[in-house]
Amino acid sequence: MGKTFKIAVFDGDGIGPEIMHPTVALLKGLAARSDEYDFAFDTVPAGAAHYVSNGESLPDASLETARAADAILLSAMGLPSVRYPDGTEISPQIEIRKTLNLYAGVRPVRIAPGQPTPLALKGGQTVDFVLIRESTEGLFHSQGTRDVRNDEEAYETLKITRATSEKLHRFAFKLAQNRKATGRSPGKVTCVDKANVFAAFAFFRKIFDEQAALHPQISHDHAYVDATALWMVEKPWVFDVLVTENMFGDILSDLGAGLMGGLGLAPSADIGDEHAVFQPCHGSAPDIAGQGIANPFAMILSAAMMLDWLGETHGIAALSQDGTRLREAVEAAIADRDGVTRDLGGTASTSEAAEAIAARLL
Ligand code: ATP
Ligand code: MG
Repeated sequence: MGKTFKIAVFDGDGIGPEIMHPTVALLKGLAARSDEYDFAFDTVPAGAAHYVSNGESLPDASLETARAADAILLSAMGLPSVRYPDGTEISPQIEIRKTLNLYAGVRPVRIAPGQPTPLALKGGQTVDFVLIRESTEGLFHSQGTRDVRNDEEAYETLKITRATSEKLHRFAFKLAQNRKATGRSPGKVTCVDKANVFAAFAFFRKIFDEQAALHPQISHDHAYVDATALWMVEKPWVFDVLVTENMFGDILSDLGAGLMGGLGLAPSADIGDEHAVFQPCHGSAPDIAGQGIANPFAMILSAAMMLDWLGETHGIAALSQDGTRLREAVEAAIADRDGVTRDLGGTASTSEAAEAIAARLL
């Protein structure tokens, strides 16, 4: 029987439900085969379509279900055609991130054999690093403090706090420790900043160095963000865990997704002290919604991250093992060119892609 985990599910907009349904089915299939854990899924409304029909993008009841859950699965929310009265896009995921204080945005960049990538990798070269993007402050904090003067000058504020930076860097070192323990990497954290130009980044780096001193078993170094962008293309195999500020992380995660062969393969997690959201990096892709051709792999890989995280935080090895199996099933399908959708140059439908994973897993 084992422990039953409550999972809040946001189907979202556009291709959201199309990629979420097969993902939940795979998780149910895994749980059915395990004595050590089970899931109780609770699907709740939010997003652009819900806003059109009900006037609310994130109902209180949905947020409460998310808060009470052990983990949150979210596909994609928002549609370019639906906006709040101030002209901004419907984005309940940002509200969830803020309300639940999910400060660590985790973006794995992993290129498995056979995976399409613009990089010319030589035999034996593998790319497997994790970018951690601070997600509650940095330059994005400025959305509350922007200042436009007389239509002549504009200012934004970059906010770095000790409290959040300590938690963020500690998280990065812990992740590097876990990766080292599983033999996946040598255990290194790189602080990505622009400490040579900005006081706020010098402070970010100072707090990083304090945490580095507390984790002597993990090596550490620093890199400027511009050099990091270059190295992500020139020699990405040197990276293990990268930790950076919000806007730098925003930009570098899209670069990472590009290296992985596109958005359809890029998973993510937004993690706080008590809550965590798992969702693909891509948006709701309204241009292909309803056609049954969306790539579900980024959503499925995000679910694998959820299994890893639940396993680790609750000390249930079977969950982490199933997370690894799920990720390996996706990588095997891609290597075999089985279940590969159009965005990756294949012809499979969403359901054929999900079947390719189920066939290797269940
Ligand atoms: P957002 O602002 O919500 O991030 P976006 O404008 O960046 O959205 P996406 O919705 O991510 O855009 O889509 C960008 C392009 O990638 C579109 O052409 C879309 O069809 C394609 N795309 C995104 N996700 C997938 C997917 N899972 N499968 C196939 N194609 C996808
Ligand atoms: Mg986008």
